[in-house]
Amino acid sequence: MTFDYDLFVIGGGSGGVRAARVAAAEGAKVALAEDRRLGGTCVIRGCVPKKLMVFASGYRETFEDARIYGWDVTDGSFDWARFSTRLNAELDRLEGVYRELLEASDVEIFALRARLAAPHTITLSDSTTKTAKHILIATGGHPIRPDIAGAELGIVSDDIFHMPELPKHLLIVGGGYIACEFACIMNGLGVEVTQFYRGAQILRGFDDEARSLVGEMMQEKGIHLHLDTNIVSIAPATHTASGTDTATNAVAGALTGAPVDEIMPAQKPDARKGGPVRVKATNGTEAVYNAVLFATGRTPDTRNLGLEEVGVPIGRRGEIIVDDYSQTALPSIYAIGDVTNRVQLTPVAIREGMAFVDTVFKGNPTRVDHEMIPSAVFTRPELGTIGMTEEQAREQEPVEIYCTSFRPMQTAFAGRPDRVLMKLVVSKQRRTVLGCHIVAPEAGEMIQLAGIAVKLGATKEQFDQTVAVHPTMSEELVTLKTPMRGA
Ligand code: NDP
Repeated sequence: MTFDYDLFVIGGGSGGVRAARVAAAEGAKVALAEDRRLGGTCVIRGCVPKKLMVFASGYRETFEDARIYGWDVTDGSFDWARFSTRLNAELDRLEGVYRELLEASDVEIFALRARLAAPHTITLSDSTTKTAKHILIATGGHPIRPDIAGAELGIVSDDIFHMPELPKHLLIVGGGYIACEFACIMNGLGVEVTQFYRGAQILRGFDDEARSLVGEMMQEKGIHLHLDTNIVSIAPATHTASGTDTATNAVAGALTGAPVDEIMPAQKPDARKGGPVRVKATNGTEAVYNAVLFATGRTPDTRNLGLEEVGVPIGRRGEIIVDDYSQTALPSIYAIGDVTNRVQLTPVAIREGMAFVDTVFKGNPTRVDHEMIPSAVFTRPELGTIGMTEEQAREQEPVEIYCTSFRPMQTAFAGRPDRVLMKLVVSKQRRTVLGCHIVAPEAGEMIQLAGIAVKLGATKEQFDQTVAVHPTMSEELVTLKTPMRGA
């Protein structure tokens, strides 16, 4: 049987684009369908614009500290419109780069929605049909709202980059990566931020000591973090002639400590775009915010893909079920990235895409190693992590914990109370470093490098053989002499 293509990729995000390009470089005839912007979540509405916002949000403290360091700096203010114009121009540029890379690889691009019609057949939204020997689904995921009254009045992370203006007072619901990162970004940009997290400590799944320090630092920087608190309902804030919500004035002021008139500009509620809303919380309080951001998780994009009809099994969380080689139950159909809900990280999706090409087009069956993946949460300070948390390691075997927390030189000089944490979780018998957890400015950069040693199975003594780079924060990782505790 002859096919139109050797490979048809559905989804033009990081994973899909990489797989398409690398397969085409192997001589495969490749097409890719993407009905939104090329680049996907990471480039268009995730990692990249988020990181640029992280940079933007850091300048306020830099300016403040610069004065203490002897610079004549006058107080400035942040211009969201100026920043977002530049941000959008940068995203346009990056999208263009993605397009050029695909075109240069002779990948045919369809700016259309694709749907499976049969194991080798795809129907596009212009009603044309294409056949392919292999189909790769790389459709990613999307943010979800909780199932509560008025949820449609909140925004999700996709909407953040399109806000016409920054809200004066933002409520963030959730305690994961996205919630904590945007709490810090918005706080840095001068927005009053309240965060509700339903559990006892934010960043569930990360090392307890590390996440506690991040939570403490976030509060120290002025984020109103309410633990064991969730949202019950949202409703549009009702306006009086003076533009304030009389029913909730007292409570809003009480909850945030901010004058209510400052919280309530005369805006009209605007579903999905934010707008003043009244929020009831599980702690019995009720308050008004200019916008509510739901950062309550993401779900795989498996809707309207024809998966059920063709017979591709979907798991309980809506994910496409694949084996170690990213192959579904139908031999011609593979899936990579967030749509498979394995590890929702861009570099993992890219690796899965490369492994797919190795397996299918290079005759070299390759599994993706999902163990010991370093990652970073871009809070202020950042949290970088690899391997086991202290809690996980204790369950597995006797451990020694090497840990130090201190005020780093740069911000201590400026009189800030900021603290950092450097922590190694070590196997007592084998001496292997089982986990490394860093809370510090640039912890993302640090963990990338420390992660190589941990991934290679370095022992604590091998860490110690490395001479410290002085004066740095991360030198502590090679100078921790005495275990703080063991078990
Ligand atoms: P997460 O799964 O990390 O966090 C979701 C948060 O929402 C959790 O705190 C969860 O609470 C809470 N939650 C879930 N449902 C509800 C509900 N009904 N009511 C209240 N709270 C709720 O998801 P994110 O959306 O933050 O991020 C998705 C993924 O994207 C991450 O897991 C990560 O893999 C990736 N990502 C990575 C980044 C990076 O590498 N820096 C940055 C951003 C995203 P609970 O803990 O109790 O379940």
